[in-house]
Amino acid sequence: MLAARIHGHGGNEVLKLDELPIPERKPGEVLIRMAAGGLNRVDLYMRNSGAGITHRLPITLGLDGAGVVVEADKGSAFRADDSVVIYPGQPCETCEFCRRGEEVLCTRGRLFGEQVDGTFAEYVAAPEGSVVRKPEALDFVQAASLGVAWLTAWRMVVTKARLQAGETALIFGIGGSVSLAATQIAGGLGARALVTSRDSAKLARMTAFGAAETILDEGGASILDRVMQLTGKRGVDVVIENVGKAVWPTAMKALVRGGRLVTCGATTGDDPSADLRRLFIRQLTVFGSTLGNRAELRDLIAFIDEKGLKPHIDETFALADIAAGLDRLESGRQFGKIGLRIGGAL
Ligand SMILES: [Zn+2]
Repeated sequence: MLAARIHGHGGNEVLKLDELPIPERKPGEVLIRMAAGGLNRVDLYMRNSGAGITHRLPITLGLDGAGVVVEADKGSAFRADDSVVIYPGQPCETCEFCRRGEEVLCTRGRLFGEQVDGTFAEYVAAPEGSVVRKPEALDFVQAASLGVAWLTAWRMVVTKARLQAGETALIFGIGGSVSLAATQIAGGLGARALVTSRDSAKLARMTAFGAAETILDEGGASILDRVMQLTGKRGVDVVIENVGKAVWPTAMKALVRGGRLVTCGATTGDDPSADLRRLFIRQLTVFGSTLGNRAELRDLIAFIDEKGLKPHIDETFALADIAAGLDRLESGRQFGKIGLRIGGAL
């Protein structure tokens, strides 16, 4: 089988499409013939340096994937020909976090494409606990984007911020798939989503994805001024952001008293002013979040089914062209998820 592996760290020259044996399925695992994957920034990070992530080389990249079951244990919840989505984590199942259903906090857990071989291969043997059924209304590429971007957005918007119908959410940095998913989820909840971008062409597409208002980021106080205008000087109930330092002061000032901010990234820097006086006087709440639990993934899938939401795919590349896909992700020009087509047509 073919697998996209990195053999070192650097640019696309460390990435090779290797011919490997099909993985041997151990008891408790499900052997999956992969149909699709999805690119995430962590794939670029692993290629570039992987610093701070314990891993060995070569390693197959990929956290997101969807495919069809080839073989599972007798008595398994899955059988041959079931269409499935991979949950990106392999939790230990025994620690205090796993026992209370917060396996996303597991300290002994491993992630596909980071600590263990990932999903960008023609076959993957995954622990049964890391496999969920694919929503029928989604194709494989769409379904593959649920594991990281959509699950991350779901935990931020629903589990952490508890965004309610009728509330207003400010979502930074539209274009990336987490922000786009967060907007679609907010719209599905009946909340009013205000979205920002430095790219007016990206904003122009957002009303089709549930955004109530779009705000062009022209630097300075442009976002804050517009938020206050759109909310009658009140501010928003919830901020969803993954940009970090560049937007943090604006994000804090945009919140109404008692507002909630959730962050899942810091692409522009991770040490903004904490603005503690504002935090306690206005009684704000700041949440950190990353990925999510399997129960949340199942809730997300039920919500998508109910609301008829579909992940938006920017462009899909063949596994053999993964380098071009990574280039597109690195360029920041994408709108939504960059997909990978794996194996023959399914
Ligand atoms: Zn655990």
